Amino acid sequence: MKKLSVLALSLFSFFSLAQEVTQETVKKVISTLASDEMKGRLIGTPENEQAAHYISKLFKENKLDYCVGDSYLVPFQYKGKTVYNVCGIKKGSSEKMLGFSGHFDHMGTSTDKGDNIYNGADDDASGITALVGISDYFKNKKPEFSMVFMAFNGEEAGLIGSKALSEDKGMEKINKNLAALFNFEMIATGSEFGKNAMFMTGDDFSDLDDLFNQHADGMIKIYPDPYAKQQLFYRSDNVSYAKKKIVAHSFSTADMSKIKHYHQVNDDFSIVDVENMTQMINNFAKTVEKLSPKNFAPKYNDKVKLN
Ligand SMILES: [Zn+2]
Repeated sequence: MKKLSVLALSLFSFFSLAQEVTQETVKKVISTLASDEMKGRLIGTPENEQAAHYISKLFKENKLDYCVGDSYLVPFQYKGKTVYNVCGIKKGSSEKMLGFSGHFDHMGTSTDKGDNIYNGADDDASGITALVGISDYFKNKKPEFSMVFMAFNGEEAGLIGSKALSEDKGMEKINKNLAALFNFEMIATGSEFGKNAMFMTGDDFSDLDDLFNQHADGMIKIYPDPYAKQQLFYRSDNVSYAKKKIVAHSFSTADMSKIKHYHQVNDDFSIVDVENMTQMINNFAKTVEKLSPKNFAPKYNDKVKLN
C-alpha cells in the first residue's frame, strides 16, 4: 500500500512537471538563435532564413498547424528578395484567439575587428523563446482560446515583417478573431521590478495588463511601462496590430535606464537569465490557461493614437 502511494505520487509529480517548459529547452532555443553561426540574423541573409527554418522546426515539434497554406513560412518581399515571417496556430475550444509574438531578425554583423556579431540574445531571441515556450507548454493541451504564434522578420528594418503579416490576405480570419496580442521584446534579464515580472508598453491605452494580472493572481506580475517617454508602444511590432484596432502591446524586462547591451555585440547568451525566463514563460502560460473569451476581453480606451 505504501509502495503504491509513493509510486502514484512520483508519477503524479512526473506528469505535472512534464507539462512545464524546462530550463534546458529555454537554453537550447535562445542559445541556438543567438549563436555566432546565425551571424546576427539580418533580414535578407541566409542565416536569417536558417533562423526561420529553425523556428518552423520548433513549431512542428510543438504540434502547431499552419496559419497560411502548407508551411509555417509566410513569404513577403524585401529589396527584391523573398523573406519569411513564421506563423503557427494552436486550435482551442473557441475560434477566438490570443496572439503571441516576437521578432527573430537582428542586426547582422559589423566590420569591426574582434567580436563583430550582433547576436541579439535579448533582442529578440528571448521573445521568440517565449512564444516557442508557450506553444511547448500547450503542446498536449486543449486551451479555451485558440492561439496564434508569430515570429516576425524585419523588425530592425522598420517593423516590416509584422506589417506584412498583419496585412497578409491569408491572415484575415485570424486577425478578425484576435482578442489580444502579447508581443515579447527583450525578456532575457531580470526587470527593474525584480524577477518574474515584466512591464507592458502603452499600459495607459488598454486594460490588458489589469485583466492579465487579475487572472495571474500573483504568479507573475505585469507592471506599467516605466519608460513611457521613450514611446516604446509605437516602436515595436505590436503597433502593426494596434493599427488594425487589435489590442496589442509589447512585454519586456529590459531596464532601459541602465541597459548596456541594447544593440551592442555583447547582447549574447552570457547576459541571459535562463532560470528567470523559464519561470516567467511557465507562469505566463499557466495564466493564459485560465483565460477564455468569457473572462478575458481587453479593450483600448481613447488615449491610444492609432493613426
Ligand atoms: Zn527588438
